[in-house]
Amino acid sequence: MKVLICGGGIAGLTLAGCLERQGHPVVVVERASHFRDEGYMIDFVGSGYDASERLGLLPELERIHYPISHLTFVDERGRVRVSLPYRLLRRRFFEDRHFNFLRGELARLLYARIEGKVELRFHTTVEALEQHGGRVRVRLSDGTEDDFELLVGADGVHSQIRRLAFGPEERFARFVGCNTAAFILDSPPDRLHDHAAFTTLSVRKRQVAVYPIRGGRLATFFLHRAESPIEDLSRESALRELRTVYGGLDWIVPELLERCTQVSSFYFDTVTQIEMPRWSNGRVVLLGDACQSVSLLAGQGASMAVAGAYILAEELGAAGSDVPAALDRYEQRLKPSIEDKQAAGRRMADWFVPKSRFGLALRDLALRVSLWPGVSSMLRRRMAAESLFRS
Ligand SMILES: Cc1cc2nc3c(=O)[nH]c(=O)nc-3n(C[C@H](O)[C@H](O)[C@H](O)COP(=O)(O)OP(=O)(O)OC[C@H]3O[C@@H](n4cnc5c(N)ncnc54)[C@H](O)[C@@H]3O)c2cc1C
Repeated sequence: MKVLICGGGIAGLTLAGCLERQGHPVVVVERASHFRDEGYMIDFVGSGYDASERLGLLPELERIHYPISHLTFVDERGRVRVSLPYRLLRRRFFEDRHFNFLRGELARLLYARIEGKVELRFHTTVEALEQHGGRVRVRLSDGTEDDFELLVGADGVHSQIRRLAFGPEERFARFVGCNTAAFILDSPPDRLHDHAAFTTLSVRKRQVAVYPIRGGRLATFFLHRAESPIEDLSRESALRELRTVYGGLDWIVPELLERCTQVSSFYFDTVTQIEMPRWSNGRVVLLGDACQSVSLLAGQGASMAVAGAYILAEELGAAGSDVPAALDRYEQRLKPSIEDKQAAGRRMADWFVPKSRFGLALRDLALRVSLWPGVSSMLRRRMAAESLFRS
């Protein structure tokens, strides 16, 4: 079966690897001109961890994992509110089945497994598609046209394939009340003393997290409450928003705001979930954030992108020529778990960015007792971090 995957991110590259192993000819088109170290760290747990184990990926994931020392929460002046040892959190919450790594490093690793076996065309996208007789005819931005037996839209939360085959983003996007930004600095600010922890400045409605990464660099992650989704996602608009929202904070924040104007790669977006009645339309199917974005609040989007790709490939492999049946089963197996995680993600906004001082104090208290016996499994259920592959 000739397959075109639009989007060389976590979902697209995982699926490309699985289908290549099944012997299908696969082409991946990716809008970016090359892989970037997009500036944020992801937690990798649950279904994605288990799917990676089945794919034999765990030793490579171990290699890119960041064994941070502590999760430390500080106030607006950098004074420690709560600090928890990561090693203990990892064991109590996830039975040691948890990784942290940069999204870009995961993408690079997935790409290394298919390089030379799957055609990946950078700087290319799908401009138009048309379905006829069990085939999809696509026109690509490089001017070529071709027929495929399956087109997979793995092009992220603002998916172009979703727009072309299902309708405009507004029909499916649910804004969850936050905006986010992330970027990487070449070196940490002088005022950051702890270079081994994941440190989060947490105040009412806002948080700034920083964590040292390989090469002596520092990754940052900003998250704040917002009344409505921001329309203008340009860098100018992002810088304006960051200065307005975080301008009054102390500690290393003034330096971060000053230096972020110089960075090469800058991520800024609304925090959005995607909810769709159907994930496939004929021979076009969506995968990963394109159809199932749980948002960074759920903290499992990349994990579920890997799990979704694994399940889609498994169903396509089992169905033979009955592709529509495989697409149905893929959706039936995955969707209930996605809906749980989306609900958990919306609840988690109060955990990441509490609205009031009282909420903040409650969250800190919950953090302090989180390692007590029984509490960690209760919190894990609340985060909906259970795996699809374990009953
Ligand atoms: C700040 C932040 C923190 C997060 N933390 C976590 C976490 O802790 N744990 C976790 O599991 N997840 C986390 N996530 C979510 C996770 O990054 C996503 O859910 C995951 O990357 C989704 O994978 P994907 O392949 O569907 O989409 P993406 O990784 O976004 O990949 C989509 C790809 O498609 C390409 N593309 C886009 N449009 C087109 C087009 N028109 N044509 C061709 N290519 C296109 C993009 O360039 C990209 O390469 C976080 C996200 C953010 C923003």
